Amino acid sequence: MNISAVRGFRDVLPQESAIWQELEAQARRYLTAYGFAEIILPVVEKTELFARAIGETTDIVEKEMYTFTDRDDASLTLRPEGTASVIRAYIEHSLFHKEPVSKLFYIGPMFRRERPQKGRYRQFHQIGAEILGRDDPLIDAELLLLLHDLFTALQLTITIEVNSLGCTLCRPRHRESLRTFGESRLAALCANCQARLQRNPLRILDCKEPGCRQATADAPMLTAFLCPACGEHFDRVQAYLRQEQVCFSVNPRLVRGLDYYCRTSFEVLAQGLGAQNAVCGGGRYDGLVAQLGGPAVPGIGFAIGVERLVMLLQSHERQHLLHPDLFIAPLDERAETYAFSVAHRLRQEGYYIELDSSRRGLKAQMRRADKLGARYVLILGEQELAVGKGTIRDMQAKTDHPLAVDLTLPAQKMMESIQLKNI
Ligand code: ATP
Ligand code: MG
Repeated sequence: MNISAVRGFRDVLPQESAIWQELEAQARRYLTAYGFAEIILPVVEKTELFARAIGETTDIVEKEMYTFTDRDDASLTLRPEGTASVIRAYIEHSLFHKEPVSKLFYIGPMFRRERPQKGRYRQFHQIGAEILGRDDPLIDAELLLLLHDLFTALQLTITIEVNSLGCTLCRPRHRESLRTFGESRLAALCANCQARLQRNPLRILDCKEPGCRQATADAPMLTAFLCPACGEHFDRVQAYLRQEQVCFSVNPRLVRGLDYYCRTSFEVLAQGLGAQNAVCGGGRYDGLVAQLGGPAVPGIGFAIGVERLVMLLQSHERQHLLHPDLFIAPLDERAETYAFSVAHRLRQEGYYIELDSSRRGLKAQMRRADKLGARYVLILGEQELAVGKGTIRDMQAKTDHPLAVDLTLPAQKMMESIQLKNI
């Protein structure tokens, strides 16, 4: 019996990892442009951190965490998300003393024991960013602008949905009103919503069951309950976005899965992914740092789902794999030994060289060079080597020219004569 990967855990093969790298490079570029620095976090944390940060009554903490008892009886958990760890590190290293505002990003795997399906895995990856220390609307708008710029650079058509979840002043009134409303429609709600109605009534707004959707169509929305300060905050975030011509829509039903969100909340949706169409989620969490034992510092962040974005970029049918700068086709053993040194010389300087050691005929090697998309092929045979020469074939122009193969030349000079640049 062959051993396969664990259900919900997957391999990323080279065709896909090339897209992955491109996505990561673009993300790093824009994160840097907006002043974010990377934080590299552990994959395992004390279970208590997530219980306190995410909330005991959320799906993640109740049934999706990979929790285990270590050999010293400590309860540990594979991180289901990144924000809790960022804040744990922020408090642990007193980063708030060093800078008035911290802009941090992370990239890495997350673990949730969900039902695996298209775009939903048990190990998945997120690119996340957090801004700690500021609560003005400009910050919220900046974070959304960064997302807008990144998705535009990736040539993806997306929809940004925003909402305000209010604060501890406006939320309780809305919660009460929603609970009363839910109770009046109890029979029409799914079992899950009926159970949530007492603990976390907000969640009935984002239930995906058609029956619940219909029953809550005229439910009281938070936007109608916002206190003046939250209302103004939300207005200003939207004004900044309009000023920069960012397309977005207000979705008053948008609530986030995690308990700690307040004020600005958002989701980025993409078409072509089926039911799992959210490629990014985020929002403000002003009470969370204090809740985890730190100072009363406000925060906001997002997390992008890498797998879903890669799926989208794949469907664009772009050519992502790197092409060799040079493909070397040695025709016999002596030529191969020489080619080995030529390849080393050029690789040392960072050129991507494919060296064919199959000893197959020229035709077969050329077919392979073509498949890899090599622009130039260096053909080395006994006759040519005897006079210190090789033949360069320009695969695009379909022309040949001789090349003096001189190992004493610097790599750049060698590449230039291969590309006929110095002539
Ligand atoms: P969803 O509604 O799709 O479950 P979520 O609200 O649980 O998403 P967040 O916790 O905000 O998602 O995570 C941010 C992003 O991470 C999501 O928008 C999605 O792209 C991605 N993501 C979340 N869970 C998974 C998963 N199990 N597999 C793959 N990607 C995921
Ligand atoms: Mg989820």
